[in-house]
Amino acid sequence: MIKFLDLHKINWPYQEAFHQKMQQVLDKGWFILGDEVSAFETDFAAYCGTKYCIGVGNGLEALVLIFKGYIQLGKLQKGDEVLVPSNTYIASILAVLQADLVPIFVEPNLETYNINPDLISAKITPKTKAILPVHLYGQVAEMDKIKAIAQQHNLLVIEDAAQAHGALLGNARAGNLSDAAGFSFYPGKNLGALGDAGAITTNDADLAKVIFALRNYGSEKKYHNDFIGVNSRLDELQAAFLNVKLPHLDKENDLRRAIAKRYLTEINNDKITLPTWDFSNKHVFHLFVIRTENRTALQEFLKQNTIETLIHYPIAPHQQQAFSDWKNMSFPITEKIHQEVLSIPISPVMTSAEVDFVIQVLNRY
Ligand SMILES: *Cc1c(COP(=O)(O)O)cnc(C)c1O
Repeated sequence: MIKFLDLHKINWPYQEAFHQKMQQVLDKGWFILGDEVSAFETDFAAYCGTKYCIGVGNGLEALVLIFKGYIQLGKLQKGDEVLVPSNTYIASILAVLQADLVPIFVEPNLETYNINPDLISAKITPKTKAILPVHLYGQVAEMDKIKAIAQQHNLLVIEDAAQAHGALLGNARAGNLSDAAGFSFYPGKNLGALGDAGAITTNDADLAKVIFALRNYGSEKKYHNDFIGVNSRLDELQAAFLNVKLPHLDKENDLRRAIAKRYLTEINNDKITLPTWDFSNKHVFHLFVIRTENRTALQEFLKQNTIETLIHYPIAPHQQQAFSDWKNMSFPITEKIHQEVLSIPISPVMTSAEVDFVIQVLNRY
């Protein structure tokens, strides 16, 4: 059986280091906002190339806190519109809603699955104040075009970088391509903790200062509350685990890219559409997503051949039961994507024999 993602195997090489870290944290007896969190914030900011990193509870809250931070700074107001891709993981949209902002959907580009910059301008109204591009599946969105539009209309740009740790556009990393970015370290992400964790990166000193307070009850100084904050702190122990794994992220992303290159050159089947990857950007292949017209048949065929696959994602956000107001909206490209996509195994611990096998089976379909 080729698992879709073997988290046991992914974390196995770090077990001894994890045990050591756990002992260190126990010995110190300091469990919230300690040295491990500070060290991770320093190192992850350096890795992304940003001035600041703020560790928070998870990826959703990272995005919510960016919006709330801008509201606190007066750069956003309740009811402002935020442009988001109509095909994204639900968390991008929940973040906008939880900050009392209004998501406005923009269709993606069928080639990249990322927000289509050519469709953005038509959606801009006097209430539009921000764009939230999502670097879906690990490939950075077309940030140059997006930023040019944002500049022209005086909009903030916030990256949802939850699937793109380490991805590069030229020499700049995801997380350092906009005003602020939200990351998730959910265990299955390219940089995954052993539980929930997240972070914000930014070069904006004012925003960083507000978010450092907001994540901790709105307090900079203990028992002095300047803002109405939340409790969303990066856990000390999770930060310790992330400190072990961060130095290995580039190497692991290289392994993902090598598998993706093999899939792209060796999978050859008319019934399967492969993802397009412009080699000038450093895609980190959080997911390798193929498309096919009869997805159920392909998924079943792969399952019978002991290959596990998943669907990212089966239901478009505007068609989710939670959002009945949007059920009559129509986003044909998004809907087509949700009907046809299938994610095949890709991870730094896949063996070349496993990759061979996946290719062979797909070519036989
Ligand atoms: C995983 C993910 C999130 C949310 O992260 P959590 O840590 O699970 O809250 C947000 N956006 C995208 C695109 C994601 O893939």
